[in-house]
Amino acid sequence: MGRMLSIAVGFVCFLGGAASAAEPVLPTVKIFTTGGTIAGSGASGTDMTNYKPGAISGDQLVASVPQLKQIAHTPVEQIANVGSYDLTVTHWLALARKINETLKDPAVSGAVITHGTNTIEETAYFLGLTVKSDKPVVLVGAMRPATAISADGPLNLINAVRVAASPEARGKGAMVVLNDEISAARDVTKEHTMRVEAFRPTDFGYLGQIDEDRVVFYRSPTRRHTAASEFDVSKLDKLPVVDILYAYVQPSLGLVDALVKGGTQGIVFAGTGAGDISTPERGALKNVLAMKPDVRPVLVRSSRVGNGRVVATKDYEPFNMVAADTLNPQKARILLMLALTKTRDPKEIQRMFSEY
Ligand code: ASP
Repeated sequence: MGRMLSIAVGFVCFLGGAASAAEPVLPTVKIFTTGGTIAGSGASGTDMTNYKPGAISGDQLVASVPQLKQIAHTPVEQIANVGSYDLTVTHWLALARKINETLKDPAVSGAVITHGTNTIEETAYFLGLTVKSDKPVVLVGAMRPATAISADGPLNLINAVRVAASPEARGKGAMVVLNDEISAARDVTKEHTMRVEAFRPTDFGYLGQIDEDRVVFYRSPTRRHTAASEFDVSKLDKLPVVDILYAYVQPSLGLVDALVKGGTQGIVFAGTGAGDISTPERGALKNVLAMKPDVRPVLVRSSRVGNGRVVATKDYEPFNMVAADTLNPQKARILLMLALTKTRDPKEIQRMFSEY
């Protein structure tokens, strides 16, 4: 820790008359808290699944890790205190607005968002598309509640603040930090319900690692994000509704019509294999295809597999479907929601799916 701090912290000399003293100049990292297991509390130290997420306030959570004081100034703002399965688009829009405002301050190096792990990848991808700054946006969670023996939250939080304060993290967009690993928001996904090593960055590897001596990056995201994103949610108080349909053997055929009736603006199919949808379900799309283009929900093919691309093929041409590339269904949904704030044209939306 001592060596890490001497590297993480800059030093400056203040000269006053004949005397001189070295004072650490700490970076400022703003912490936004939303709840989750990292702020979770159980009745006993061995309660790993029976606990309440979002039980500890943002201030308490940060105060419980006093070592942060040696790394950065960490002002705290609580946005919510819930399990991340209860977050809403309203929370996302508030977060984007507040982070955008905060990162305009030249004194702030980056933002950390504490978050439940269930949907951390969704909020991370959303912020990666809507924060207009080169400064790092680091989402962090924990797999064990704060009250657990061997809780992983405190070190994850220290690591997240170190990443947000790291000059090397600039330009890398939104990232997820857990288990000493740094992942790109676009590519990371939760792959285990219980283990501390629950996050894997799909086909593309981690961006970097966090060790005692330094935060080290090996890769950069190549897709458009943050400062290079065309999406602006600063004046929005809601987003177009997009739903996901999961593919499986012999799906019920009334689901598409039910979604359209409910007012959905877009449907992402979590298709089988490389984004396939059964022949009867394709038939059930005839009502959608008969709608006028200015009200017709946009259709996107993703995959339930978890790795690999979904690409445009001849079979799906008549359905005007957008191919999700490597975005998993929950991330394809976010890109489609943002795309629909600008256009309903499937060709233009396909362009976005190949750039973000
Ligand atoms: N089990 C979740 C977590 O890891 C709960 C949540 O997503 O808030 O934080």
